[in-house]
Amino acid sequence: AKRQGRNYLNFYQQCIEQTHRFSVHLRSKFQQAIDNEQLQLFYQPIVALSSGKIIGAEALMRWQLEDGSFIPPDIFIPMAETTGQIIPASQWALEQACHDLSQLLERRPGFCLAVNLSALQFNRANFFEQVITTLQSHHIPSECIELELTESILMDDSAHAIKLIERFRQAGLSVAIDDFGTGFSSLSYLKKLPVSKLKIDRAFIQEVVNKASDEAIVRGILAMARQLNIKVVAEGIEMAEQAIRLNELGCDLGQGYYFAKPKPLNDLLNDLD
Ligand code: C2E
Ligand code: CA
Ligand code: CA
Ligand code: CA
Repeated sequence: AKRQGRNYLNFYQQCIEQTHRFSVHLRSKFQQAIDNEQLQLFYQPIVALSSGKIIGAEALMRWQLEDGSFIPPDIFIPMAETTGQIIPASQWALEQACHDLSQLLERRPGFCLAVNLSALQFNRANFFEQVITTLQSHHIPSECIELELTESILMDDSAHAIKLIERFRQAGLSVAIDDFGTGFSSLSYLKKLPVSKLKIDRAFIQEVVNKASDEAIVRGILAMARQLNIKVVAEGIEMAEQAIRLNELGCDLGQGYYFAKPKPLNDLLNDLD
């Protein structure tokens, strides 16, 4: 039994060492991807639920290895947040989004691109100036960019966050709360936050047609948003019935595989023809 215990311990140590080696490997691979501009942006359309018309898109980062496989963002984004690599990766993403947006705007004036922010960026000095400079250098009207932030950003230092959101809004940008309903949220801070949009998390949309409790939550969010003059996007719509019901409930916008999966810029441009 003692020997077996030692074997388990060895096995456990080996696992830790391997995991550690793998994560060091992943980090340096990701650094290479940043340095060699091997990251990509995919775009998922956001549609008006009443008409089905594409009004904008969300930019989602993709990391493809030499063998063609993709590492999921749910793996590399949290890693990049611990290492700080999210800062250069996000700056690259904003530049790329602005570059692509100028093509989208030629096709569809008023088109709006949403980009995801991480808490790390939000808390850096000069972040505001950096965003504005990037937009200006690509001649992008500030109304055409939306910043998506999660509730975790507000928890770190809400006074700082509120001030920064106000500055972005005054400069003309939209600000959306992502994954709404999943954090510690919600209702009290919304009053203080000058946000333009809420994105209801997929968790509440999945069963909106079958589960009375989820429908009630969605109704509640929509009623509150209407009072506060905030637009709402339903995320993760996978079926026609969900899109129909959400439109009936008065939700303005939708996003999800039912409409389109995230896709390369050229495919999105084709959709706009
Ligand atoms: P998110 O911001 O909530 O993005 C939505 C995620 O839901 C995307 O996953 C999208 O592909 C997926 N999705 C969209 N419609 C459906 C649907 O109908 N069904 C299902 N099951 N999923 C759907 P993705 O692209 O894997 O990204 C995962 C997360 O990684 C994002 O969640 C976001 O938190 C983060 N992320 C992605 N790109 C960036 C980025 O450029 N910067 C930062 N900071 N985070 C990013
Ligand atoms: Ca998002
Ligand atoms: Ca989301
Ligand atoms: Ca998410």
